[in-house]
Amino acid sequence: MYSDMAMILGDAPAKYFTKSVFAVDKVTGQTLRQKYSVTNYACLGCPIGCGRELVDFKPGLNVDGPEYETAMAFGPLCLNTDLDTIVEANHLCNVNGLDTISAGVCIAYAFYLYDQGVLSAEQVGMELHWGDGRAVVKLVKKIVNQEGIGVLLSEGTLAMARELGRDEGEAAQVKGLEMPMHDGRAFHGLALSYATGPRGACHLKGDYYNIDLGNMVLEYMILPSERMASEGKAEPAAKFQSLKDLYDALTLCKFSPVQVTQLCEMLNALTGWDYDPEKLLAAGDRSVNLKRAISNRLGVTRQHDELPKICLEPLQEGSSDGSRPDMEAMLKQYYSYRGWDWETGKPSKEKLIELELAQVAQDLYKP
Ligand code: SF4
Repeated sequence: MYSDMAMILGDAPAKYFTKSVFAVDKVTGQTLRQKYSVTNYACLGCPIGCGRELVDFKPGLNVDGPEYETAMAFGPLCLNTDLDTIVEANHLCNVNGLDTISAGVCIAYAFYLYDQGVLSAEQVGMELHWGDGRAVVKLVKKIVNQEGIGVLLSEGTLAMARELGRDEGEAAQVKGLEMPMHDGRAFHGLALSYATGPRGACHLKGDYYNIDLGNMVLEYMILPSERMASEGKAEPAAKFQSLKDLYDALTLCKFSPVQVTQLCEMLNALTGWDYDPEKLLAAGDRSVNLKRAISNRLGVTRQHDELPKICLEPLQEGSSDGSRPDMEAMLKQYYSYRGWDWETGKPSKEKLIELELAQVAQDLYKP
């Protein structure tokens, strides 16, 4: 698991995004393997095999092992280092169809609100002190059973903030989707991807931290650079976002380390088409812009392309100490590269036509 490296990089948020230093050794993949009997499994033919199963977690019960995002959301984000409860919360989410990131962030927000005196033990149905792993599991059950405070938690952090009369900047979400477990203060290009992502703060749509950790896409000159600098991030982050947007259309696993040129060769061999890296990027741009136009029609504007205050406030510890992404500067450069209008947040008519989306342009700009 990436958790120990994440803490060193200041990438893993803790205590509801107010810390980045925590007892990481308690929740690493190594600790998981020492504590439980773990087997790996893979999709057909995949040499990575990212799936892991904990054998006999309880007598006769095998469960999926928590992945990085889950371990961090139910773990350090709640200051919880009790692996048993992280595994149990993960299992409950899996069998009941809950997203572990959103569930973990909402539960961590409940801890935060309790700590601030906003939520009472009576409202929560129990005391809620940072690090209480059993409380994490109980809150997952309340969400699943739609019981008591679980009803509000299941609505997401934005609804929680609104319902409780809190500053919306305290809700760790973008466009209603909860923040993943990679911190934009540690990777400014990632902060931009989260802010502009079609469905909000999604770690699957432009995992830019991978670039600034040393990966690259040579065909598009997307290269690693100073991870906590905002200058020069907009164009490569936008290109990477467009590329990653195609992965779903191509039914590719997000972990596939395939090069763009190989991707084109595979696509052409399968379809008889004639894609090159430039055409492929245009297809990704088309996908992002089509989604953007739909979002615009549903009310999304530039004001929705922002990170919540709580995830921008500079931390006073760890390797991202003092770092704050310059969102306004990055967004201006991003909008300019994308051909989006700074006032309305819409793709320009010209951009849509250039991307062969003339009908979308007509619809978006109809009088
Ligand atoms: S294809 Fe992707 S999801 Fe499936 S085992 Fe490989 S890395 Fe994991």
